[in-house]
Amino acid sequence: MRILITGGAGFIGSHLAQAYLERGDEVYIIDDLSTGSLDNIKAFQEDERFRDRFFVNTDTIFNHDLMLELTGISDVVFHLAAAVGVRYILENPLESIKINIQGTEKVLELCAKFKKKVLIASSSEVYGKHLHAPLIETDNLIYGPSSKSRWSYAASKLMDEFTALAYYRTKGLKVIITRLFNTVGPRQTGAYGMVIPRFVTQALKNEPLTIYGDGTQTRTFTYVRDVVKALMSLMENEDAVGEVFNIGGTEEISILELAKKIIEKTGSASALDLIPYSEAFEKDFEDMQRRVPGIEKIKKTVGFEPETDLDTILKLVAEYMRNRNF
Ligand code: UDP
Repeated sequence: MRILITGGAGFIGSHLAQAYLERGDEVYIIDDLSTGSLDNIKAFQEDERFRDRFFVNTDTIFNHDLMLELTGISDVVFHLAAAVGVRYILENPLESIKINIQGTEKVLELCAKFKKKVLIASSSEVYGKHLHAPLIETDNLIYGPSSKSRWSYAASKLMDEFTALAYYRTKGLKVIITRLFNTVGPRQTGAYGMVIPRFVTQALKNEPLTIYGDGTQTRTFTYVRDVVKALMSLMENEDAVGEVFNIGGTEEISILELAKKIIEKTGSASALDLIPYSEAFEKDFEDMQRRVPGIEKIKKTVGFEPETDLDTILKLVAEYMRNRNF
């Protein structure tokens, strides 16, 4: 199969590209390297086995002619190109809205033109400020006011979902929508705020771990290769078309407990540094206090269950960080 991955040099995109290459498929990626990096794909770009079936386009998805060509020749499309990370969104609010809304609209329009099945990466952010767990796909969504930039990410991803579903309903375009919860693993950078690469790097350097707020907020973390398996199975399943799926882990942990675990696992001498949200982000910043996915729907549809536990994930991330000198 010919697979097109937008955002293919990003953290999740590069693992997805690698999995399809290892399966024997032909892979096309397009990435503007805004948050992605050629380092993420270097190893398999140089791999003899993949040389004649891995095609890298360093460009924006707003390059119409290139996207027209790439969509035309592909069998299926994974749309992962997006502005990611709370810090990145807060620092680049306009660019983030543009890429997330207009970029997705562009991809859907081309997929509809060529009748190509497309999987859209949405986010657990769309749930907003819920305190209950687990969050399920049919839950109501609760946001803060538009004066708080953070919610523009949720709103833009939600608009992507509406647009994709509208293409499905009005044009019969085969779309699959995935709400990705905190996904972690090698190649993820802490530069855009993500907590595990940041804490692991800080721990390996014996620097204080920067806990935002009081650390009682919770998350679950899913290993990127488990997420990739889920994405590939959904793409192959006709029952997934026109549906929205959570993809995430089930082991809920507070950020404070996570920090302590990372210090223990890495044998670090780091201290814990509790930083008020207003210092870490902006005045009146609102975090999501709790975020745990219900995964019954994806389990029932494609049999997905996360296989890699948090201890293993932390070990793999620490190994990766050590090998590249943090
Ligand atoms: N966080 C933290 N210290 C950091 C980075 C993140 O305490 O150096 C917290 C952040 O406030 C959030 C959680 O860790 O409550 C997960 O953050 P991340 O940016 O990884 O993902 P999010 O769930 O916010 O999308």
